[in-house]
Amino acid sequence: MRAWVDKHLPRRTLLGQTLRKLRRFYLGNLNKEYIAQAIKDTRKGDCNRCGMCCELIYKCPFLGRDAQNLPFCRIYGDLRPANCRNYPFDAVDSEIDTCGYSFTPKSGK
Ligand code: SF4
Repeated sequence: MRAWVDKHLPRRTLLGQTLRKLRRFYLGNLNKEYIAQAIKDTRKGDCNRCGMCCELIYKCPFLGRDAQNLPFCRIYGDLRPANCRNYPFDAVDSEIDTCGYSFTPKSGK
């Protein structure tokens, strides 16, 4: 099973996206230490507010657009789910080419 997941997880397919979303949910809620360490050790850059991560698989219902058509989160703050708060937390999780974050080639749980 692990080999099957490892094979499909990094792929840019609907299956790969779904596996990453599940992994994001699992680690974000049950292994917050891994997320924090991966961000600290491997993530560089900043969010450029492209909003692409709010439309992975489906468009988030809390995604809004301001007067300049820039995306914003309608529930930004404590209500924001771990999946959104942590994206992207490591190289495996990162799947959007235009994302302002990049990763040193480490991590990958
Ligand atoms: S994809 Fe990256 S740069 Fe774009 S909104 Fe999400 S975190 Fe920010």
